Amino acid sequence: MNYEQIITAQRVFFNSNATKDNGFRKTQLRKLRSLLVANERRLYDAIYADFKKSEFETAETELLLIYHEIDLALKNMESWSRKKKVPTNLVNFPSRSYIIPEPLGVTLVIGAWNYPYQLSLAPAVAAIAAGNTVILKPSEIPANTAAVMASIINENFPANYFHVVEGGVETSTALLECKFDKIFFTGSTSVGKIVYEAAAKQLTPVTLELGGKSPAIVMADCNMEVTVQRLAWAKFLNAGQTCIAPDYVLIEASAEKRFLEVLGKYIERNYGSSITENYVQIINDKNMERLLKLLDVSKVVIGGSCNKESRYFAPTVMRNVSFDDAVMQEEIFGPILPVIAFTDLNEVIANVKERPKPLSCFVFSTNSKKIKQVLNELSFGGGAVNDALMHISNSALPFGGVGNSGMGNYHGEAGFKTFSHYKSILHKSSWLETGIKYPPYAGWKQRLIKWMMR
Ligand code: NAD
Repeated sequence: MNYEQIITAQRVFFNSNATKDNGFRKTQLRKLRSLLVANERRLYDAIYADFKKSEFETAETELLLIYHEIDLALKNMESWSRKKKVPTNLVNFPSRSYIIPEPLGVTLVIGAWNYPYQLSLAPAVAAIAAGNTVILKPSEIPANTAAVMASIINENFPANYFHVVEGGVETSTALLECKFDKIFFTGSTSVGKIVYEAAAKQLTPVTLELGGKSPAIVMADCNMEVTVQRLAWAKFLNAGQTCIAPDYVLIEASAEKRFLEVLGKYIERNYGSSITENYVQIINDKNMERLLKLLDVSKVVIGGSCNKESRYFAPTVMRNVSFDDAVMQEEIFGPILPVIAFTDLNEVIANVKERPKPLSCFVFSTNSKKIKQVLNELSFGGGAVNDALMHISNSALPFGGVGNSGMGNYHGEAGFKTFSHYKSILHKSSWLETGIKYPPYAGWKQRLIKWMMR
C-alpha cells in the first residue's frame, strides 16, 4: 500500500468507531508494551549499532519513559476520556452542559533521531490512548532503530490502525502533502517551520516539539558540588545530543574558578579521557564536522579531543565565551559546553531575553528571590530549579516549547489532551420553553435576558 492508501484505510477504520472504545485502546497499549518488552534485546542492539548507546542509558532515557507513559494511560484512561460536567448558566435553564473528549482521527507522528524510541513512541502512545490511528515516521538517521520499530509495529499491528513509514526528507514531504487530523512533529526549528506551513494548507492542527539554546544560570550561592554533578550529567548524557540539555552555562563570575574545577573532576570521574561504554558517539560525520566548526580551541579548558573514525567527541568545556562566538549562534546539540561569566543577573536575563525563547532553562541557587526573578522574567518551555533535564521525567509536567522552541505539549494527560478534541455540549430538556428569546421582541424580555446573563 502507498501512503494515500494507508491513510484512506486508517480513515475508514477510524470511522468505524472501533478506536472510540476504551477497551480497544487499552488492548492496543498492552500489546505495544508486551511487544517492546519481548523485543528489548533487538531494541538495545539497534540503538547500540546506531550510536553506541549503552543498555543502561537506553533503558533509563528511552524505554522506561515509554513504559511509564503506557502504564499511566492504562491507569487513567477512564478518567481522562470521561465526559466532564460543567455549570450551565441561567439563560439556558433547564439544561446540563458537558465536554466530551473525542479523538482527532488519523494522526501523523514525525520523530527526531536523538532519542529515536522515546520521541517516536511516546507521542504514538498518547495518540493511541486518545483513540486515534497513527502513522509514525521515525527519523531515518539512526537507520537501525527506525528499522526495528518498523518491524515490531508493522508485523504486529494492522496498517489501517498503526503503521511505521520509513524514509527521509522525501518521505516526510510526501506525507505532509496528505490530509491528517493531527501532526505531531519533533525536530529542528527550521524543519518545524516547513511542517507548520504544510499543515496550514490543510488546516491540520500541529504540535511542534522543537529545539533551541537552553541556558543554565549558576549563582555563586548554589551548592556547587551538587550543581556541577547534575549539570555535567545533563550536558554530556547522549553526548550532548539532547534537546533539553543545558546548551551553555551563565556563571556568576566570583564562582567561575570553583565551577570549572569541580566540573573537571566530574567529567573525569564520569567519562575519563577516552572512549568509554558510558559515553555515546556523535550520530554521524556531518554532525561531527558541524561540532568541530563550533569549537574555538583557544577557549577550550577541558576536553577538546576527538576521533573522527569512531565519532568520539570528548566532553568539552570552553570559557571566556561571549554571545558573539560561533558556538553561541546555533543550538550546539553536542558535548561542547560554553561558559559565560557574569556579574549582573539583570544584564544576563536581558541578554537571554533578546534571543529566541529556549526549550528549557535551569537555575541553580539557594536564593529564592533570584530563582523567582529568573522564573518570572524569562520565557521558556519548561525547566528545573537546582537540577537540569529531570523535569522531563515527571509526566505530571506537560512537556513542550514556546515561541521558536515549539508549540503544544505532551506526556501524561497533556499527551492525551494534545491528541483529543474537547467537544462542548449544551444538553437541553424539552419540558419547558420560556420563549423569551423569540419575537415579537419586547422591553420586558430584554430586561429579563439582561438580568439572566449577568
Ligand atoms: P530534523 O528537523 O532534521 O528532523 C526531524 C524529522 O523531520 C526527521 O524525521 C526528518 O526525516 C524530518 N525532516 C527533515 N527535513 C525535513 C524536511 N525538509 N521536510 C520534512 N521533514 C523533514 O531534526 P533532527 O536532526 O532529527 O533533531 C534535532 C533537532 O530536534 C534539534 O533541534 C533538537 O533540539 C530537536 N529536538 C527537540 C525535541 C523536543 O522534544 N522538543 C526532542 C528532540 C530533538
